[in-house]
Amino acid sequence: MRGTDQSVLIAGAGPTGMATALALHARGVPAAILEADSADRDRSGSRAIYVHGSTLRTLERNHPGLGTDLVEEGLVWPTRRTCWRGKEVFSRTYDDPGGDGKFPHFTSVPQVRTEAYMHEALDEAGVEVHWDAGVERVESREDGVHVETADGREWETPYLVGADGGGSTVRSEVGAEFEGDQSENSFIIADVDEVEDEDDRLPLERLFHYDDPRVGGRNVMLVPFTGGWRLDIQCIEGDDPDELCTEETMREFTGAVMGEQYADSVSWVSSYKFLQVMADRFIDERRRVLLAGEAAHLLAPFGARGMNSCVADADEAASAIAVAYRARTDAVARDEVELYAARREKAAEFNLEAAGQALEYLQGDNPATVLRKEAAASLADYFEPAGEYLDDTPYGPHDSPPIVSTGNY
Ligand SMILES: Cc1cc2nc3c(=O)[nH]c(=O)nc-3n(C[C@H](O)[C@H](O)[C@H](O)COP(=O)(O)OP(=O)(O)OC[C@H]3O[C@@H](n4cnc5c(N)ncnc54)[C@H](O)[C@@H]3O)c2cc1C
Repeated sequence: MRGTDQSVLIAGAGPTGMATALALHARGVPAAILEADSADRDRSGSRAIYVHGSTLRTLERNHPGLGTDLVEEGLVWPTRRTCWRGKEVFSRTYDDPGGDGKFPHFTSVPQVRTEAYMHEALDEAGVEVHWDAGVERVESREDGVHVETADGREWETPYLVGADGGGSTVRSEVGAEFEGDQSENSFIIADVDEVEDEDDRLPLERLFHYDDPRVGGRNVMLVPFTGGWRLDIQCIEGDDPDELCTEETMREFTGAVMGEQYADSVSWVSSYKFLQVMADRFIDERRRVLLAGEAAHLLAPFGARGMNSCVADADEAASAIAVAYRARTDAVARDEVELYAARREKAAEFNLEAAGQALEYLQGDNPATVLRKEAAASLADYFEPAGEYLDDTPYGPHDSPPIVSTGNY
């Protein structure tokens, strides 16, 4: 019998690490988190605002009440709308939020609030987060993993989950490497606070505006979430993203796109080139370390496959570890961990391809894509599917990866 009562350790208290800890706890496996930051850290920026129904259901299954809390906190925008060079080409309003009755198709909530609910859930479950305990060294052995943290402590664990984000130390400690590339365009991403006066507020709709003349012909996306709006502006040739991120320029952009009442409400702004990469392997040689979430893959955010796929990784990592943890033979334990890698590497490849298609479409380098967009825009007044194509395509295909036991990502 391989049995042990040691806690499984997780590096990182982001959404992936917290979702993994909750999923392990739900399966009766003791877990603890080692986090590099201090408990009073500031996690700014709305980041993953689109929480998909399947993610809500996974979180609810692993910690009853967590999914419903997020539904209560979040909002479901009823309208999706698209404009082309100043003219509306598609608009559709839904009179119900979709989904299965308990969980809507999605909810829109800033990541900082999702993380706050996850922290509460960890407290309720009695899962400990060790702050200021960044993982520095990882040594995997036949019978477990030896971990050293920045606070000078040493730990032994049967399994380690590397959920320590894009710059993962765990990934480099096990000798895995990111492979892939980076978007050509930069994107400006800003959070804009909702205004006080209800009469001044924009209607709750997700808007995509191609070549918006109000901001020099740049693509603009506007998405509401609880308490604010996400404004994404795609840079064009010759743009200096740092210049566009200044307070003055953002004031102008926000006033032009959202109305003067929002011009002073930008609360956070940053510029990005998106990486499209995944680790060359998701597990170590001894089948004791599992990479999950952004430690394993980074995706462009179009299609919202980021955090949603992180939660799917977390759930499947916990499932594999729960079996491996109690397995009577090493061979069964190794098999489970290998299956995790096989499934989630396939899912990451699929998600990368889907996000890549969205990115390629938005960057518009391909003459056939440019032509298709122009043709759709000219037909949209008479032929609704053309407008719907323009509305839908910036987010990539909607299909789910193969071999996914839970969720859509
Ligand atoms: C601008 C922006 C917009 C986004 N929009 C979306 C969206 O619309 N939809 C979506 O689904 N996703 C979106 N994302 C992605 C989403 O934010 C990430 O997918 C998600 O945060 C990844 O979670 P994670 O837990 O894997 O990593 P992180 O959130 O990076 O968490 C990693 C954690 O590990 C800790 N850590 C780091 N090093 C160590 C170490 N050595 N030891 C211990 N702990 C360590 C970090 O402090 C952190 O707490 C967006 C991201 C950005 C930046």
